[in-house]
Amino acid sequence: MAKLKAEKGIEPGLAVIIVGEDPASKIYVRNKKLACEAIGIRSEEYALPENTTQEELIALVEELNNKKEIHGILCQLPLPKHLDEEAVINAISPKKDVDAFHPVNVGKIMIGNFDFLPCTPAGVMELIKESGIDVKGKECVVVGRSNIVGKPMAMLLLHQHGTVTVCHSKTRDLKEVCQRADILVAAVGVPELIKGDMVKEGAVVIDVGMNRLPDKLVGDVEFDSVAERACAITPVPGGVGPMTIAMLMKNTVKAATL
Ligand code: NDP
Repeated sequence: MAKLKAEKGIEPGLAVIIVGEDPASKIYVRNKKLACEAIGIRSEEYALPENTTQEELIALVEELNNKKEIHGILCQLPLPKHLDEEAVINAISPKKDVDAFHPVNVGKIMIGNFDFLPCTPAGVMELIKESGIDVKGKECVVVGRSNIVGKPMAMLLLHQHGTVTVCHSKTRDLKEVCQRADILVAAVGVPELIKGDMVKEGAVVIDVGMNRLPDKLVGDVEFDSVAERACAITPVPGGVGPMTIAMLMKNTVKAATL
């Protein structure tokens, strides 16, 4: 970061907007701020009250779109029910959309010619790559089809030549499909849905889930039973979560240098 500043006069800046009092969102925003501080990205936090109107929120986004010192804008989801998430995402300049949720960036990912990758799927791909796992030709199963995790995850695995199946709540036999996977990514939001008997011996299992139970945080994968069969598995916490933040930092630096 110091080199970027010294050589190009660029100091990456990230604006994080949070609306309301959701405790989990507050933790995520705090962790993002700490990561910025740790690596020398300037961060600005905009904590808005629960009763913020759509017009006020869009006006803030537009102000940040025009702010020179800000290169990345992130609006922490979910927003309170009265706000239109899609309209807010659409208002963020695609060049500052470090979450890669804007339709322009989603389209670019689809055709494989992108500036930013969505942080969580990008973090998963980085984990796969750094573990020396080759996706080419592998049976990849993604459980979950959300716009922010499941769908882009499937697309990134496809770009790396995986044979990809996407499961969701209407999938007829989840166990049977999961058992085929060489690489299984769970992004569901159902605590410990994926059990040991759903996983092929020697599979790579990546748990995106973050489910807050009264006494602990658990993933979408039942760790102990699945770890007995998997050749590699990510823990929760401490697996995909930190990678998501690392990719946000990467996207912010990229946005600053675009
Ligand atoms: P969504 O609720 O938006 O999507 C969940 C998906 O899971 C949907 O496609 C849904 O299917 C599917 N699903 C739900 N129940 C079942 C089931 N019983 N069997 C098969 N599929 C099912 O969640 P997100 O994608 O936003 O998040 C998923 C998980 O990942 C959550 O735990 C979230 O907290 C976590 N997360 C973690 C991040 C990180 O940094 N580690 C970042 C973002 C999310 P349908 O479409 O049919 O409804």
